[in-house]
Amino acid sequence: MSSVSENLELVQAQIKAAASGADRLPSSVCLVAVSKRQSTERISEALKAGIRVFGENRVQEAYEHWDELRGAYEDLRLHLVGPLQTNKAREAVALFDVIETLDRQKLARILADEMAAQGKDLPCYIQVNTGAEPQKNGVLAAALPEFYDFCYTQCGLNIAGLMCIPPVDDDPEKHFKILANLAADLGLTELSMGMSGDYEAAIACGATSIRVGTALFGTRDTI
Ligand SMILES: *Cc1c(COP(=O)(O)O)cnc(C)c1O
Repeated sequence: MSSVSENLELVQAQIKAAASGADRLPSSVCLVAVSKRQSTERISEALKAGIRVFGENRVQEAYEHWDELRGAYEDLRLHLVGPLQTNKAREAVALFDVIETLDRQKLARILADEMAAQGKDLPCYIQVNTGAEPQKNGVLAAALPEFYDFCYTQCGLNIAGLMCIPPVDDDPEKHFKILANLAADLGLTELSMGMSGDYEAAIACGATSIRVGTALFGTRDTI
């Protein structure tokens, strides 16, 4: 298994190539290292390699990975990239720096209340179900303007941008373009899209944040 720092070099080279191909600066793409179901050894390798932005998809596991390390790395930034249950909102607001999976009104309200209670104003991404898949989280494209207005105007949330996870059996580029257009319509500049298999295409379509797990860490533990 290659080391995280070797993998990082490769990923960074590919980010650079994809960015320059799209006339963009590599620094305009934030690499979020998705550390879910990775060992503490791999995570400390990533920290040694200089990675400071991490993504987790479960609140509980994120605490297990990061609760202690948090204090040791001032510049650490944690993104929640998995579905958030409202009964975990308090813990999520306490631990994470960015919430990428805002997808329903009840959650928006509770997040706004929690942030007010904890004196925080975390950037949020609205997750969009670009493929309209019944089993997938995210708001439908048609419902996005109203949902955005609810989050921004009524709840006062800090909406940084949009996030999507394309259907596995479809051309991801199509979904990246849909997300980019939806964001442009709302005047939002941040786009969280692209994973290990398709982050180069995502960068070509304007991703400002890519969520990369296995390409950095190797295969995950299965649970
Ligand atoms: C696991 C996960 C990723 C990372 O997936 P890889 O294919 O390992 O890069 C990205 N985004 C979300 C939402 C995830 O759950």
